[in-house]
Amino acid sequence: MSIGAALGNYFGDIWTGLRTSCVGLKITWRNMFRPAFTVLYPEVRPQVPIAHRGIHGFDEETCISCDMCAKACPVSCIYIKSVGKGEGSLMTQFDIDYTKCLFCDLCTPPCPTECIWMTQDFDLGSYSKDDCIINFARTKTGDEIAEFDVRLKKKDEEKKARAAAKKAAKAAEKVAAEAQGAADTAVAVEEPPAEEDPGES
Ligand code: SF4
Ligand code: SF4
Repeated sequence: MSIGAALGNYFGDIWTGLRTSCVGLKITWRNMFRPAFTVLYPEVRPQVPIAHRGIHGFDEETCISCDMCAKACPVSCIYIKSVGKGEGSLMTQFDIDYTKCLFCDLCTPPCPTECIWMTQDFDLGSYSKDDCIINFARTKTGDEIAEFDVRLKKKDEEKKARAAAKKAAKAAEKVAAEAQGAADTAVAVEEPPAEEDPGES
């Protein structure tokens, strides 16, 4: 390369450096007085759209452990355990695995008591995948579960005994009605036929 060409390259590079710096500074200057788009998260929480689907909300008091939400979930990420089912059951586990959840909201419409819903909370930051499995149910002690189990079994037995007593009473009623019917038939057979009135012929 000739000296002239080398000098041309040298000053060309200087010019390019100066020009690109000016372009960058122009952009910086233009945006210096505009309002910031960023926020100091997590001290400042950004506003999310009203329809945003975030982490679930759940009300254990009104949940009846019917499993409808878990059955509706397309990725089976709701894990429910309870002692008994329906009203009066004791919930022992209501976990949602947010490493699988699609935030699709398919689990909330089937809930008969409207005790599960989507909130706008989005913060699932954690250092482990296990921390993304959230347990929404109050933790129960072993004693509490055992005591509830005994009470439930007793209630079941009482219910079964009541049903059996009702069935036996119905059967006894039926037998009595049949016996009465048989007795009425026997009386009718034993009665002599009525004599004809001679004046009638
Ligand atoms: S939002 Fe969708 S994926 Fe998540 S738990 Fe509900 S049904 Fe399952
Ligand atoms: S559908 Fe509703 S009531 Fe049934 S288990 Fe799920 S949250 Fe509870």
